[in-house]
Amino acid sequence: MNKAESERLGSYLEQLGYQATATAEEADLIVLNSCVVRQSAENRVINKLNALKSLQMSNPGITIALTGCLVNSNINQLRENFPYVDYFFKPGDYPPWIEKQDKVGIILPRHPSLSTFVTIIQGCDNFCSYCIVPYRRGQERSRPLAEIVIEVKELVRRGVKEVTLLGQNVDSYGHDLPNKPDLADLLKELNTINGLARIRFLTNHPKDMSSKLIEAIAYLDKVCELICLPVQSGDNDILKVMRRDYTVEHYRQLVEQIRNKIAGVALSTDVIVGFPSESPHQFQQTVNLLSELRFDTVHVAAYSPRPGTIASSVFEDNIPLAEKRERLHKIEQLQESIATEINAQLLGKTVEVLVEGKKGGKWQGRTRDGKLVFFSDNNDYLGHLVKIRIEKTSPWSLQGKFELNSIN
Ligand code: SF4
Repeated sequence: MNKAESERLGSYLEQLGYQATATAEEADLIVLNSCVVRQSAENRVINKLNALKSLQMSNPGITIALTGCLVNSNINQLRENFPYVDYFFKPGDYPPWIEKQDKVGIILPRHPSLSTFVTIIQGCDNFCSYCIVPYRRGQERSRPLAEIVIEVKELVRRGVKEVTLLGQNVDSYGHDLPNKPDLADLLKELNTINGLARIRFLTNHPKDMSSKLIEAIAYLDKVCELICLPVQSGDNDILKVMRRDYTVEHYRQLVEQIRNKIAGVALSTDVIVGFPSESPHQFQQTVNLLSELRFDTVHVAAYSPRPGTIASSVFEDNIPLAEKRERLHKIEQLQESIATEINAQLLGKTVEVLVEGKKGGKWQGRTRDGKLVFFSDNNDYLGHLVKIRIEKTSPWSLQGKFELNSIN
């Protein structure tokens, strides 16, 4: 989300006549877009701000602005801590030095990549006990459906083939809008846009994902068969203290429903290991669930307390770091073997790939279900949907041979 917002902000400033410079030293204006999802990320922002102080001392004409999740209702405090920063503005807001007439409704990236992110809902109302996002990004605010459709049409006109709709919880999309459209309604509208090849979205919340949405993914041809559904833990007591608001049984049923309705669907999930008081048995429950449900991708993180969250003030971070690392490693190893087996099933099969660029002399792109594919060919396939016959697989990517150029 931060990357998408930085791109848009950069484009907007370009439209107003600013030009990007190669280094901070050459710039008249520096805008820092901060991420504070982890304490380490926040520390990096603070270090960067401190480094900019010396730059400002050697070049007093420079303007410095801070945006992103570090900026919320704490602007007065930030002003006190960083008096050399000229402007502070919240994520998604306009830079405060911009004149009223230059404030436009939709900001588009100037040179969008073939696959572009589009934020559809900001903020989060959930307050999972370990997460800082709701405190920093505020309450959920959905963008009007018509505005998103106009934006995606314009992106497609500029060459975009694939959009990924972004939100902390995309399943909440629209509840705060008049007529309360939902994500399924939005997908249906976007599916009619000529020239758009693929639609993705993330992240879903297991407590909110509806049958209507699952049906929509199943029948809308441009909506890709990849669902990011963070489970976080395989133990109900841990889920409760995480304030996730669903049970393992509900999650299991949801996965079954998704797999029954959506042919060839890939599932990705997020897991936190070493949450306060997570016993070896509770951790094993997570391992068991991952073995049972066999996800295509698992993102695993070791718990670290985030000051300002419920978990950090209520629970003691009582799982030793070495133990957290061991649990993390165990899940990584398990997932590596599962992904090896899942990907090996694609050997000899033909998959559709959207070619996004070149890496190490090979074309690279993704399948509809998000798998990374490489192939060699002398022709230019950038932006094409091609058919690739898979000849080699690994847990992380696939390699194959060009078969057919299906759509230009
Ligand atoms: S739903 Fe996601 S963003 Fe919202 S509080 Fe929970 S973890 Fe954080």
